[in-house]
Amino acid sequence: MGRSKTLYQIQQYNTQIDDSSSRILEINAILIDNDLLIKAQKIRTDAEAVLLGKKKVLTSAETIVGDHSLKIDQNQKKLYSGLVTNPKELEDLQLESESLNKYLSVLEERQLEAMLDMEEAQKEFDAASVEVTSIQTNMDAEHANLLSEKEGLEISISDINAQKESYLSSTEIPDFSTYEALRKSSGGIAVTLMISNSCSSCGANIPSAIAQEARSPTKLAFCPTCKRILHPG
Ligand SMILES: [Zn+2]
Repeated sequence: MGRSKTLYQIQQYNTQIDDSSSRILEINAILIDNDLLIKAQKIRTDAEAVLLGKKKVLTSAETIVGDHSLKIDQNQKKLYSGLVTNPKELEDLQLESESLNKYLSVLEERQLEAMLDMEEAQKEFDAASVEVTSIQTNMDAEHANLLSEKEGLEISISDINAQKESYLSSTEIPDFSTYEALRKSSGGIAVTLMISNSCSSCGANIPSAIAQEARSPTKLAFCPTCKRILHPG
């Protein structure tokens, strides 16, 4: 087998392993990224606090209306009990009744406002809860897919590693250290295809003397621009 062909085969194993490994890193990053969920949960917590506050206001408004209604009851009972006969006293009770009723409508108006505010806050909280659930559901589905993809990639990496090991142990590779050094200095791609006398990594035109060397099974040729080993494609 030609020198560049042997190295190109190793390069293909390594590239597949590198691509799968970098996809696994991407997946890990997505799996730990829960910013969206945390933001939605914060909005829900805030909406819940507002809702609790509005509920308290409403409860207090209801209590005030209840207490005031008791006062009106007492006034009415006294007024119509027949026990009070003094006209001045009856007039006072009548005036008090009017004033109590006038104020009751103010208190009821406040209670209604508190009710509307509470309903509004309930809507906000419900919407925030729906959003949290929806984000959580989407995340769960996405994570399940990613975990299964990751599992597939891990299996594929271990398969390719086994193939690579078996290839390395069955083949004489005199240029392996050159290959390894170039992998380090060339971003993982040490061997590149030469297609129509161009380097497929950097696009440089390969002078015909070098292209001829690249096609020779006994020689190694390098791209004059990116320095990678050329393998005729
Ligand atoms: Zn090149």
